[in-house]
Amino acid sequence: MSSPTKQDQQSSVKRVAVVGAGVSGLAAAYKLKSHGFDVAVFEAEGRAGGKLRSVSRDGLIWDEGANTMTESETEVQTLLDNLGLREKQQFPISQTKRYIVRNGMPVLLPTNPIALITSNFLSAQSKLLIILEPFLWKKKGVSDDDTQESVGGFFQRHFGPEVVDYLIDPFVAGTSGGDPESLSMRHSFPDLWNMEKRFGSVISGAIKSKLSAKKEKSGQTKGSVEKGKHQRGSFSFHGGMQTLTDTLCNELGKDELKLNSTVLSLSYSHDGKSAFENWSVSSAAKDDKHSQSLSVDAVVMTAPLCNVKEMNITKRGTLFPLDFFPEVTYIPLSVIITTFKKEDVKRPLEGFGVLVPSKEQKNGLKTLGTLFSSMMFPDRAPSDLHLYTTFVGGSRNKELAKASTGLAAAYKLKSHGFDVAVFEAEGRAGGKLRSVSRDDLIWDEGANLMTESETEVQTLLDNLGLREKQQFPISQTKRYIVRNGTPVLLPTNPIALIKSNFLSAQSKTLTDTLCNQLGKDELKLNSKVLSLSYSHDGKSAFENWSVSSATKDDKHSQSLSVDGVVMTAPLCNVKEMNITKRGTLFPLDFFPEVTYVPVSVIITTFKKEDVKRPLEGFGVLVPSKEQKNGLKILGNAWHGPIVHQVTCIFILPLDELKKIVTSDIRHWLGAEGEPTSVNHYHWSKACPLYGHNYDSVIEAIEKMEKNLPGFFYAGNHRGGLSVDNAIASGCKAAELVIAYLESPPDEKTRQE
Ligand SMILES: Cc1cc2nc3c(=O)[nH]c(=O)nc-3n(C[C@H](O)[C@H](O)[C@H](O)COP(=O)(O)OP(=O)(O)OC[C@H]3O[C@@H](n4cnc5c(N)ncnc54)[C@H](O)[C@@H]3O)c2cc1C
Repeated sequence: MSSPTKQDQQSSVKRVAVVGAGVSGLAAAYKLKSHGFDVAVFEAEGRAGGKLRSVSRDGLIWDEGANTMTESETEVQTLLDNLGLREKQQFPISQTKRYIVRNGMPVLLPTNPIALITSNFLSAQSKLLIILEPFLWKKKGVSDDDTQESVGGFFQRHFGPEVVDYLIDPFVAGTSGGDPESLSMRHSFPDLWNMEKRFGSVISGAIKSKLSAKKEKSGQTKGSVEKGKHQRGSFSFHGGMQTLTDTLCNELGKDELKLNSTVLSLSYSHDGKSAFENWSVSSAAKDDKHSQSLSVDAVVMTAPLCNVKEMNITKRGTLFPLDFFPEVTYIPLSVIITTFKKEDVKRPLEGFGVLVPSKEQKNGLKTLGTLFSSMMFPDRAPSDLHLYTTFVGGSRNKELAKASTGLAAAYKLKSHGFDVAVFEAEGRAGGKLRSVSRDDLIWDEGANLMTESETEVQTLLDNLGLREKQQFPISQTKRYIVRNGTPVLLPTNPIALIKSNFLSAQSKTLTDTLCNQLGKDELKLNSKVLSLSYSHDGKSAFENWSVSSATKDDKHSQSLSVDGVVMTAPLCNVKEMNITKRGTLFPLDFFPEVTYVPVSVIITTFKKEDVKRPLEGFGVLVPSKEQKNGLKILGNAWHGPIVHQVTCIFILPLDELKKIVTSDIRHWLGAEGEPTSVNHYHWSKACPLYGHNYDSVIEAIEKMEKNLPGFFYAGNHRGGLSVDNAIASGCKAAELVIAYLESPPDEKTRQE
């Protein structure tokens, strides 16, 4: 571990470490840098942006994380102005046209309360409940715990069950992947929760708030009216949402942004004398054992709480355990991007997208919703294609997240519809099946023969269509054992023979056929697996593994996130791998030494006329006792067990998701045929669930901040899930840091 340099320590400019280069961390860092502070942004991944992740490929542009944002927070307006991003803002065409599925088909959602009352979207009874809500809304029971109320419970009290099922449920599933019963009203909709506290009725509260906002607006200065002008609903940026975080990164500069730097530990060591450089931040690249340290004056933490809990935090040399943190539940989400030929989509819908209430699952719909991405932003796809972004999973459909995991062999997995990646350290596949064909000769340098003693082998040969290429040796029952220096015919055992049924010659045909079936992209030759890291959170079954590989002489490794790993490398190689479990090394020192037997295979040819006593049959084996007769070989036909040719297999669950998404899109939009492209991104922890225990999560965050002076927590785990909320949270944390570092030193000491 390298310690902080003297120069570091003497620097008079205040320095702040920001952990996490998602939008909240980058917004905080930008604000701190603009204020004149030195910043260092630590990001565990090789890219910045966090949940903002745009892809531009083959003439398509799509977002795998957040797709749009709003300017509901003033911090967002200021940030966009300061970054000069107004010109890159992209507003969707027909953003008010949003659909909700009813009875299996998309129905246009009325855009305002009056339209809702006059439309047929809700039943007459529900409409009456909305109109009479100011008089009829039900108060909570006296014994009900006010803070524990669910989103579903709150809206049911005010508007009845149909509003919950067909408006609130699809809305919360579409914005957070959550469901109305698991979400806490207080934390998910704090404004409405406070409105009820103040006005009782939500409708009366909304009208009164609107009227007082109007009054305020009439007294506003010109500048603030200008600001309001920008609030035109949801928007993205040219190039996708990542344009925002890319712009922030450019403003920060390369040196400030430390990619591939996972923060492992933080240590606070205030000695009561100086108010500065009390913090030391230690970080390392994922596969690196050597960490780097940096001394800073304050820390803005924006990493998800599940990652913070893995960090080692010390305060004046003593561990500061984070065991007071309650468990945070995370919602898994898959984002599937499909394109269809325009001519194949018979009922294209103009607008923003469609949301699916969970009640509609009975109609066979399994997705949470689909954004009509290229309808909103026509430059996202060539003019002959429609691009759709569909969300699957969420707390509603956790079982879907598990549906596609399972392990067997690469071919079996691929046949089953899984994506596989086979990593092989060598430049050839086949492992110990190694056939050579040269100068009119064909020989095997590895396994020469195999049997069908396992039913899996019989099935495999049938499925691969290899029966025609099977070659049975002539006189295979004639086997010889050397006795007294001379081969003696081995008496045949009829029972053993029935079992053994040998196949022969060019064993590699089998592995070559398997490789052909797998395809070029799946087989990663010259890819030695160096490390595996497992980070399961107990909630999602997806992408818990990260596999890092490199060519033999290359120092740069590649990483791949997968759901499962089939390891078939010899144990001696496995022991060389670096395996980590939830950030901690998983040492393989409990493995005893495995002894390996070295074997040389020598292939010779002789002229037939020179072989005076050729023996018909299979081959000859040499007992070790015969060494006394000067014989040193093991036998002239060696065969070993069936050797797997693959080193590791990794699975991604694309096929099943593709079917689910395509089926829903076909149903709603009349899409015919197969999509022209399918892309998929899985978030095992897309969003924290603001559940009923969230009060205690917030209390724990506050406790951490209170006990660790100069430590501030920001991001989507507090104050809202949206991009806007995350930006506002980052900016607020930056303001607190500025106030903290610019307060007189004795005040800081008092804070302790
Ligand atoms: C699929 C999806 C769709 C969404 N759609 C929308 C939408 O349309 N509109 C909207 O407003 N919001 C949307 N959201 C929510 C929104 O995108 C996020 O809440 C927001 O971007 C979170 O930003 P953040 O900075 O708080 O966290 P993150 O983006 O999660 O950033 C945290 C960063 O910390 C890093 N990190 C973790 N551990 C460490 C460590 N030990 N050391 C260093 N770095 C570490 C992570 O790698 C990550 O980059 C969506 C989210 C998802 C997943």
